[in-house]
Amino acid sequence: MPAFDFTQWPPFISDKDRVTLQYRATTYALAHGLLYLPVGAQPPAPTSAIHAPISLFPAPFPRVQFEQAQRLQSIYNVLYSRIAMDTEFLDQIMGAEVGIGRVDEFTGQLWSGWRDLREKGLAQPLHLGLFRSDYLLHQRDSDLSLKQVEFNTISSSFGALSQKTAEMHRSLETSTEFFHASAHLTADNFPPNQSISGLVEGLAAAHAAYNVDGSRILFVVQANERNIFDQLWLEYELLEKHSIHVVRRTFDELAHQAKISQKDSTLFIETLDRSPVEISTVYYRSGYTPDDFPTSTQFQTRFNLERSKAIKCPTIPLQLAGGKKVQQILTEPGVLERFLCDESKYGPQGVFSTRALAELRESWMGMWGLDLDGEIGVKQARERALELVLKPQREGGGNNVYKEAIPGFLESLPPGERPAWIAMELISPPMGLKNYLVRAGSGASIETEVVSELGIFGWSLFGGGKVISEKEAGWLVRTKGKDSNEGGVATGFSVLDSLVLVD
Ligand code: ADP
Ligand code: MG
Repeated sequence: MPAFDFTQWPPFISDKDRVTLQYRATTYALAHGLLYLPVGAQPPAPTSAIHAPISLFPAPFPRVQFEQAQRLQSIYNVLYSRIAMDTEFLDQIMGAEVGIGRVDEFTGQLWSGWRDLREKGLAQPLHLGLFRSDYLLHQRDSDLSLKQVEFNTISSSFGALSQKTAEMHRSLETSTEFFHASAHLTADNFPPNQSISGLVEGLAAAHAAYNVDGSRILFVVQANERNIFDQLWLEYELLEKHSIHVVRRTFDELAHQAKISQKDSTLFIETLDRSPVEISTVYYRSGYTPDDFPTSTQFQTRFNLERSKAIKCPTIPLQLAGGKKVQQILTEPGVLERFLCDESKYGPQGVFSTRALAELRESWMGMWGLDLDGEIGVKQARERALELVLKPQREGGGNNVYKEAIPGFLESLPPGERPAWIAMELISPPMGLKNYLVRAGSGASIETEVVSELGIFGWSLFGGGKVISEKEAGWLVRTKGKDSNEGGVATGFSVLDSLVLVD
């Protein structure tokens, strides 16, 4: 079978049919909660919403690479759980005494708070991770492969809205058959996506492990969050399928309302209408950027929650494990073996095959630290700038330095800050792929050349050296205009998309 030709996407469609598709897409989104809050101040109880930015056609993605990404997720769930439990490793890589916490203030603050707490003794041995591993297709001549962009251990968003987007494309297929524009667009090429129930299963597993009747899950959220529906769908599922109530609070609210019992560090949240509620699990949809910690008060709140008996998603060590520096260190010889092949530590059942390790490694681009061997790291970055991206220890988009901007940036970067940055080879997604992108308020859909990024969700409940349970939990596709280096939907550069598998 000839390889799929990405330059032939989207298939031809008449203007009239495209207008019909767009009508069906946006009305479906509005009717099914594929929504955002509008820009600007909103009343406390919102009175309006807009549809999330979406693509008209699903993104073509090779079945082989999609299945590979799904297969890898279980290994990643275990890998990052074990990294989070390896205190010695995290101290060395991310710590503020010998690791990059010395030069990256935010990392250093998180690590120092964690070190102080663990010296006093932490009340909860379990950690919960809701993860998302992000990938792009990499094309070299006619050869296509799957390459990892990054691994997220905190606040991975769009689980719920990605399921809704997949359902929207499925509905377009059912109602219009996409006007027979392409033989690929049939229901059996649309893989199922149960990310809402998948992610909620992880939260419910932590809640069950905590095992206190009437306890609730705390969502720690940002003030002025526009992506609330993505979070609310998880709340509805928790309540309707698992009878678990959620309380939502910002760090600033928690500064006054979070109380920790003297006796056994139980976390309670004060409410206006009832007695304080006990918290089983703290789920962070904030706390991943320094912007969430404008003063020392927010750090203090974070550390209070960390020391409590509630299960944290994630704990500070799990957040640190998701650092880009860790992703780079994993590519160094022997590091993957430390976590995946140590039979004396993880037992015969806990050891992964050579094949599994090779498959992980095949999905990585080359990476190195800018502090590599004196001047070598910077020299290589300068010489190869056009094929690279530089990344600091930040999440949430807008922090990376790309290609031609690299040499000037390196000039201005104080040598002392180099350890906080990694260089990563650029992935080359298939060229000539297009789609129609639809944004609320913009009228017509815009046909533009695009890049689609796949994310695979997974969760893991772990502690005391062991992974208790873990699962793959659905997927996400974000599609961005080709000329935008960054890919965040929340930061406005990309749209939510789904998949049509091709062979
Ligand atoms: P963040 O934590 O800010 O999300 P990422 O590592 O995901 O940082 O980078 C942001 C975006 O930059 C990605 O979504 C992707 O579009 C692009 N990007 C990152 N790394 C690469 C790479 N190696 N090759 C090509 N694009 C990349
Ligand atoms: Mg990212």
